[in-house]
Amino acid sequence: MTDRSGPALADSQAVLTIDLGALAANWRALAARVAPAECGAVVKADAYGLGIEAAAPALAKAGCRTFFVAHVSEGRRVRAVVPHAVVYVLNGLLPAAAPVMIEHDLRPVLGSLDDATLWAKVGRLRPCALHVDTGMNRLGVTPGSVETVARMDLAIDVLMTHFVSSEAVKDSTNDVQIARFASVRGMLPNARSSLANSSALFLPQKPFGDLVRPGYALYGGNPTPAAANPMQAVVRLEAPILQTRVIEAGEKVGYNAQWTARRRTRLATIGIGYADGLPRAAMGIDDRPGGEAIVAGVRCPFAGRVSMDLTMIDVTDVPEAALAGASAVLLGDGITVDDLGLRSATIGYEILTRLGARYHRVYEG
Ligand SMILES: *Cc1c(COP(=O)(O)O)cnc(C)c1O
Repeated sequence: MTDRSGPALADSQAVLTIDLGALAANWRALAARVAPAECGAVVKADAYGLGIEAAAPALAKAGCRTFFVAHVSEGRRVRAVVPHAVVYVLNGLLPAAAPVMIEHDLRPVLGSLDDATLWAKVGRLRPCALHVDTGMNRLGVTPGSVETVARMDLAIDVLMTHFVSSEAVKDSTNDVQIARFASVRGMLPNARSSLANSSALFLPQKPFGDLVRPGYALYGGNPTPAAANPMQAVVRLEAPILQTRVIEAGEKVGYNAQWTARRRTRLATIGIGYADGLPRAAMGIDDRPGGEAIVAGVRCPFAGRVSMDLTMIDVTDVPEAALAGASAVLLGDGITVDDLGLRSATIGYEILTRLGARYHRVYEG
């Protein structure tokens, strides 16, 4: 167990534990699922908040050779810790970025005709990927433009697209996108094909192509929201109980007094708030329950608004003797990133990528 970053424990508030063994196991499970296709790893947004410098080497050690990032700066960080990695930059090619990409051997994912024209000038023989948009209307050339790019004679080694709603198994959009991709795939016969993010690895159509691009599932998110999570949890988040107090029925808690005690209540104030990435939308207010923490094995609802650095929870059902020295588990012990996302009107992806900078971070495995 090594500490890599974040404040030292004595100074810290919450503790974020990242299980690199579980991360590696998740990658191996997905790689086995898609074989003989190659399994890459998406490590954009600081490896979904977990830390590129820890996550990328752990994935490389598990066998991953191909990494996807959003920004050039993230690509440089992967290059620094996994020197032989193949690194694709998903967000396309900005003119100022081209020399940096070449210097650090990063491969652009060309997402427009402008990107392709620029790479033809500065990178021509260097490998790149071409993104064809099959329905997202976000990045990527239209299917009708793939032929134009094919005639530019670039070293396109991957032809990729991205699903709109691969977590919705029965959504016919998946079939539409697979068919659109198939209609252009033959124009770049030497390129490898890549369609699938995490959830697409669980689609009955098995749209794996030659190279898959999971992110969320590697970090323990559930790629199959309608079913049990097949992945191992990777993050655990624990906040210290700073103090407890007993209030009478009818008393109010927190900013704007939006939570009312319905019984004599023992409250605990814990050292984590929205500045740490705990969504303010997880507030528990009268008539609308919010987030939960687990203290000594007992689920404890949030009481009142989440403040910047602090959150109050109702620990009345925790035996008093068990409170001494206990901490509150926000993620772990059965609370998943998907759960916290649901209770915060968002998704687990946002929970992960907003994990705060003030945590004491512990990397295990
Ligand atoms: C973020 C991203 C992925 C990974 O998606 P997950 O749902 O996290 O697996 C794959 N491909 C592209 C183009 C992306 O932007």
